[in-house]
Amino acid sequence: MSGDLTSEERLLQATAREFAIRELAPGAIERDESERYDRSLFTKMGELGLTAAPLPESVGGAGFSYLGWTLVMEELGAVDMAMAVSLSVHLLSQYPVVAWGTPEQQARWLPAMLSGEALGAFALTEPHAGSDAAAIRTRAERLGPADAPEGYRLSGTKIWISNAPEAERYLVFATLDPALGSKGITAFLVEKGTPGFRFGAHERKMGIRACPAAELVFDGAEVPVANRLGGEGEGYRIALSALGEGRISIAAACVGIARAGLDAAARYLTERHAFGAPLVEQQGLRFMLAEMAREVAAARAVTREAARAKDRGEPIAEASSIAKWTASDAAMRVATDAVQLFGGSGYSRETGIERLMRDAKGAQIYEGTNQIHRLIVADEVLRSIGG
Ligand SMILES: Cc1cc2nc3c(=O)[nH]c(=O)nc-3n(C[C@H](O)[C@H](O)[C@H](O)COP(=O)(O)OP(=O)(O)OC[C@H]3O[C@@H](n4cnc5c(N)ncnc54)[C@H](O)[C@@H]3O)c2cc1C
Repeated sequence: MSGDLTSEERLLQATAREFAIRELAPGAIERDESERYDRSLFTKMGELGLTAAPLPESVGGAGFSYLGWTLVMEELGAVDMAMAVSLSVHLLSQYPVVAWGTPEQQARWLPAMLSGEALGAFALTEPHAGSDAAAIRTRAERLGPADAPEGYRLSGTKIWISNAPEAERYLVFATLDPALGSKGITAFLVEKGTPGFRFGAHERKMGIRACPAAELVFDGAEVPVANRLGGEGEGYRIALSALGEGRISIAAACVGIARAGLDAAARYLTERHAFGAPLVEQQGLRFMLAEMAREVAAARAVTREAARAKDRGEPIAEASSIAKWTASDAAMRVATDAVQLFGGSGYSRETGIERLMRDAKGAQIYEGTNQIHRLIVADEVLRSIGG
């Protein structure tokens, strides 16, 4: 299964696994219970280089393959999906700066994020616009002459923004005019503390409760033109391009959830006795384990294939949608079966098994719901036949 990995990729995988077991595992249930984000864990991920792993050396990243990145996310997702998502979103907010930022913007914005000193967030969703992201209404009004603006004034509300309010740096999407649809959307780099930018309600979530999420409120927040990423109207393309990478990353973390559910269930069935024998001797339960293993293998295969496509420089819209949809559905099914196989212990908040199920559910919704991924895949299929 891992025969095609390079020695560097194996080392990265081992680093992430050791960090997950030593640092994330001990407090994962407590952090989830208390909805506590432990910033020191993010700082440690920075010290280990995980915050820079998949970004190119040309901007100060570690230059690992995206396949290597999926290994990191699988290890983190297997132990603590909340921290896996926090890290994934941190990276999501950086890919566009790498792809679209000017050298000046990259020099100003990236170093503290690559090192893990600053935490990033990606702010697209609004109260009335989630899947239909082109319908966002947060306004960006030009300041100064229309043909050479000096800056922009942002007004509106974002919801569900992961890593807020902890994050210092926000990639914010706003529209010059809602009537322009996707063509009006523009991307901005916004720092915490900008006058007119504050945080609203904290999102009270079912799962990944140790990864914060909150509303962002822009009430005439002014940003200089130097903080506009890409051109006016390029924000929608910028958002979509980053989401391809983000979806592979989330898919890999979901493989981790599924793997954790399978491994825990297999161990439990071996140890737990009923009717005078270990439960694992029941053929019906062995069949469940086999089906769970099949889900893990299939999800891992499509996720790694999507990462390889990215590493080869191929378009990843279809592959990343297939990976995220397949892996999050697999994580949900395997985690649900793991709860079933643990019986009452699986339903208890003490064992951490029900946490896998709650964490998996969110991944079927964020970074594009799995309905939206069906639409993307169908569009790509039709495009491929010229339809
Ligand atoms: C835990 C979590 C973290 C998040 N983090 C972030 C973040 O960091 N940044 C950010 O910007 N957003 C974030 N989000 C928001 C997330 O991206 C949206 O919730 C998601 O895109 C869905 O949008 P919505 O909630 O408005 O649902 P809606 O778009 O209103 O969809 C409701 C239902 O209708 C379905 N549906 C909608 N349109 C169609 C269609 N055309 N065809 C078929 N079915 C359709 C959907 O699949 C869904 O089942 C997060 C959400 C969650 C739950």
